[in-house]
Amino acid sequence: MSNKNLEFYNFIIVGGGPAGLTASIIAARQGFKAVVIEKGEIAGPKPRGEGMRHFPLTEEILGEGFLHSINNFSHTGKIFHSPGDLHMVPIPEKSMDHYFFEWRKFIDRFIKVAEGLGVTILLNSEVIEPIEKENICTGVKYKDDSGNVKEIYGNAIFGCDGYESVIGRYYNILYERINCPIVKCLISNGNTDINKTTDLQYYLIGNGDLDYAPNFPQCVAYVFPIGGKNLEVGLMLRMTQTFKMKTVKIPTDEEIMEVWEKLKKSYPGFSEFFKGAKIDYEELTGLPNAQMVKNYIPSAGVVLIGDSAGFVEASGSSGLHFSMAMAKFWTTILSEKLKELSEGKTEITAHNSELWNSQNITRYKKDWENTDVYKHIKKIYSLLSKFEWYIFKRRRTSERINKRWKLISFLLRKGL
Ligand SMILES: Cc1cc2nc3c(=O)[nH]c(=O)nc-3n(C[C@H](O)[C@H](O)[C@H](O)COP(=O)(O)OP(=O)(O)OC[C@H]3O[C@@H](n4cnc5c(N)ncnc54)[C@H](O)[C@@H]3O)c2cc1C
Repeated sequence: MSNKNLEFYNFIIVGGGPAGLTASIIAARQGFKAVVIEKGEIAGPKPRGEGMRHFPLTEEILGEGFLHSINNFSHTGKIFHSPGDLHMVPIPEKSMDHYFFEWRKFIDRFIKVAEGLGVTILLNSEVIEPIEKENICTGVKYKDDSGNVKEIYGNAIFGCDGYESVIGRYYNILYERINCPIVKCLISNGNTDINKTTDLQYYLIGNGDLDYAPNFPQCVAYVFPIGGKNLEVGLMLRMTQTFKMKTVKIPTDEEIMEVWEKLKKSYPGFSEFFKGAKIDYEELTGLPNAQMVKNYIPSAGVVLIGDSAGFVEASGSSGLHFSMAMAKFWTTILSEKLKELSEGKTEITAHNSELWNSQNITRYKKDWENTDVYKHIKKIYSLLSKFEWYIFKRRRTSERINKRWKLISFLLRKGL
């Protein structure tokens, strides 16, 4: 991997997570030049999602049987616990094709495939801002691994840089309205018996339920068994309704971690898992599942993809597959257009004004919004928003949620 002589690529991909690496692999398979610019020392430097259902796209990108080969554990279902753990509702899994694996093993495979196809991956290289010429984004400025600011140009710029996307923020995307803060924690020697507890557990906590933090937003504490006595545990704040609620105060990071510490020590049911356990990893981060980014083409020449577009299945907070699916669509449609525009020419270079004219943008967007995957994500956001309005805003507190648990159980069984 070298940083020298890099000037023009068909696809400039900001961020080397599942979205960016998928885009680079598809572009390279289509015969295009792709560069991934990644700020970390390695692509996907921090662990994020480590579980997903099986989808043919994973095999297409990473190879047949790969996900199966890194699978640690397949769970059998979900259990939702009402506030205070007074009631629960078990929801059996329809199929056993849900896998848990280590983030590093998952991402390393993307890197291997991408590098095998000749994708350039620039590490320790942080994108600072897009470059615009005549209202088209034609490149990005980035700080390379020696701290020098460089410019790089291309036909299409993909913002695959996650939940705090520098590309999205440049175009005024309000990630504070898109993201839900989440604590990700990995523990070993958890107080659990994998033979008895194979389900994913979700503890719903309403606003006003915690004596020590009465204004804390509604949240969900979760426990995922990932093999033996190892667990992924965490806390996700649910932000969809919070900005409309007078009883909620948006907490600082420190306040979130204080609540997390207390939940680990004493929350009915949930804290049991921590007895005698060792914490191997713990970090507060963000998951963009409060709402989708509507303006995912914020300027001609640039597309926000994956987490930077809030493109996750919000009910399961599943973004691995969906970021890959969005990357596939946009790389494929732009590759086809680039090929069409280059017919009869020896080199694919600067067709940006044609590639990104308003007629073409309208068509790409229409095609995207007609895909099953886009419709699915949109539908889940809409259903989840109604569900959360009912449970977390209308019912709000433990007492009132527990009173209507029968109805809430029914809705959860229906698929939320
Ligand atoms: C705690 C947690 C648990 C999750 N659990 C699941 C799960 O079980 N199943 C599931 O399907 N999904 C899960 N998700 C969601 C899933 O991880 C994401 O949706 C997915 O990683 C999105 O991929 P992405 O490529 O869009 O973004 P990311 O994976 O965030 O990748 C973004 C990349 O961009 C890089 N970057 C950022 N800024 C810059 C910059 N300025 N310049 C260069 N590079 C930059 C980052 O270093 C990173 O490598 C979880 C997420 C979290 C946070």
